[in-house]
Amino acid sequence: MIQQNTSPWQTRDWQNELQALIEDPLELAEALDLPTNTFLDMQQANKLFALRLPASMLDRIERGNINDPVLKQFLPTGKETDIVRGYSSDPLQEKTVNPAPGLLHKFKNRVLLTVTQSCAVHCRYCFRRNFNYQDNNPGKAGWAKALNYILQDANIEEVILSGGDPLSLPDEYLSWLLSSIEKIKHVTTVRIHTRLPIIIPQRITNELLTTLTLNRLKIVMVLHCNHANEIDEEVMHACHLLHERGITLLNQCVLLKDVNDSAQAHIDLNKKIFDCGALPYYIHMLDKIAGAHHYDVSEAKAQQIMQDINKALPGYLVPKLVREVPGAGAKEMLSF
Ligand code: SF4
Repeated sequence: MIQQNTSPWQTRDWQNELQALIEDPLELAEALDLPTNTFLDMQQANKLFALRLPASMLDRIERGNINDPVLKQFLPTGKETDIVRGYSSDPLQEKTVNPAPGLLHKFKNRVLLTVTQSCAVHCRYCFRRNFNYQDNNPGKAGWAKALNYILQDANIEEVILSGGDPLSLPDEYLSWLLSSIEKIKHVTTVRIHTRLPIIIPQRITNELLTTLTLNRLKIVMVLHCNHANEIDEEVMHACHLLHERGITLLNQCVLLKDVNDSAQAHIDLNKKIFDCGALPYYIHMLDKIAGAHHYDVSEAKAQQIMQDINKALPGYLVPKLVREVPGAGAKEMLSF
């Protein structure tokens, strides 16, 4: 049973937020006064990758604006059904770096565990929208193989919890995972890739903070926020709670056409991220996942955006522009 944990600052608890989802494109269109003339296209796209958006996110989306930069990340569109050359169901070829169920080993000294398939939102551009979670979400009993793999390779210093969204797991499960990893002496750091503090900030309960910090591991949390409008006061408060507990907070975003494809969007985002107690980490070029071609931004435009960000912000607020190349020993840094 999932415990209902709330902190005094929270007026709503995260489990209820996570269950109050909008999953029907028509319901979303009606809630936001959006035109429904493309509704049939939306339904087609929705069959490929279901809409999932907590109702509480509606407060951060402008009513009647189909071009709202937050909405654009989650609203299914007919363009997702286009078949476009160069876009595939596994653009990072993760099947080839999957030596144990739930474990991806791409880079020498770190591994990634897909600890859950569940997310609070479905981002239309997600490179794991077609990932085989069935075979890569072994559950508590099945993690033995992955943990043993980590134990056998002393090069592995860092374990990345990913998914899905690791913070959609109950505290008890996270606590078990962290204590299992903590027993492996050569692992010093656990990195958590999550969108939940942004999407449902009520997830940052006192109980979670204790779970994350009651071990010898260095905890790094990499947020995923693409636009300044995603950050409201509750998000900021949740991030401050994490920061105060000594958790290193970073943010990564994906460069997305019509969402954040301007220097000003990133200047505003990175200033707000800093106000949250986090630092900008990466701007990712889009991974070429089938169904997401309409989000792609050209390399030349990305470089121009980076030049403009670089002129406008101090160096510590300028993220790295990167692209993931299957089989490469590290992410490719793009110069600008
Ligand atoms: S939260 Fe992350 S894993 Fe989940 S759909 Fe969005 S990008 Fe994909």
